[in-house]
Amino acid sequence: MTSPPPEYNVTGIDYADRRHLGYMGPIVDFHSHVMLTRPGDPPTGPPLGKGPGASLQQAEIMLAAAAEFGITQTVTMCPPDDIVPLRKRFGDQLQFNAMVNKRTADESDEQALHTFEQFLELGVKIVKLWSAPRGRERGLFIDAPWRIEALKRARSAGVRIVMVHVADPDVWFRTVYADIAKFGTKADAYVGLERMMTLFPDMIWIGAHMAGDSEHPDHLETLLEKYPCFHIDTSATKWQVREVSPRAKAHRDLILRYPDRFLFGTDLVTRHHLTRAHYVSRYWCQRTLWESAWVGPSPIADSDFTPTDGASTPTLRGVGLPYDVLGMVYHANAKRLLDLPAV
Ligand SMILES: [Zn+2]
Repeated sequence: MTSPPPEYNVTGIDYADRRHLGYMGPIVDFHSHVMLTRPGDPPTGPPLGKGPGASLQQAEIMLAAAAEFGITQTVTMCPPDDIVPLRKRFGDQLQFNAMVNKRTADESDEQALHTFEQFLELGVKIVKLWSAPRGRERGLFIDAPWRIEALKRARSAGVRIVMVHVADPDVWFRTVYADIAKFGTKADAYVGLERMMTLFPDMIWIGAHMAGDSEHPDHLETLLEKYPCFHIDTSATKWQVREVSPRAKAHRDLILRYPDRFLFGTDLVTRHHLTRAHYVSRYWCQRTLWESAWVGPSPIADSDFTPTDGASTPTLRGVGLPYDVLGMVYHANAKRLLDLPAV
């Protein structure tokens, strides 16, 4: 009996082969979840956040792999209690993005704002409004009044950047989100985002995971055109490999028209039992997708992919951005936003 291949390498690829990666400059990972981990953390889903056995080891493994791929700075979402130990260990290598969140449906607005204030006191640069359709039951609407209040407080504290998770893959709206009465349509998810960008046009808005719509580059273009404050991060590696690849030319053309509005990100999450190769697989695929002309089966297992013609993973087709545009997407745009003066 041979064991099945690991999710991070189902094709048996050699991740040490990086001859197709020609970019030599620094990179900022604008979207990640570097946290303390604990032996009792669930294998998926949010970590315990407290209790014995807290470890920085996964953060060390992940950021060492990041450095191999040229990543000099990583922006992380983590619990407020993790910020001090992470900062002490990694210094300026990390920047922090504060979740404006409720863990349960019955958490009060006051409790959520109290947690958020802890983040502001710790000097975060970015705030995150996670409002995927599956968060509706917890009241996680992007334009909920308590979130509008949090943004006002963030702005007063000098925060200039808001990251949003608005939508999920098209395929989820046919499966997990098939109950429209409960989850709304994919288009419904963008109504609140547009309302918020109209309410806070002086903030920088970043749509996480190709703004949730890599299936429709024309929609991304509409948002970029209509809202000068709107930016997009490239994170969620499996999703982008699956949906950017078949539209590689459209995405390339779009990024060339708006090169100062895109930010490199991975959405990597530290988890207590992960191996280095898991982190390597995401960095390798993200860079391969954006900077190379590499074409082949994606090395990462993808449960959202319907196997076709004997292929068990989607085709990864490199977008091949020009070098100067890579410099913007990988580094200069992130630096410009992180260095914005507080107003
Ligand atoms: Zn994320």
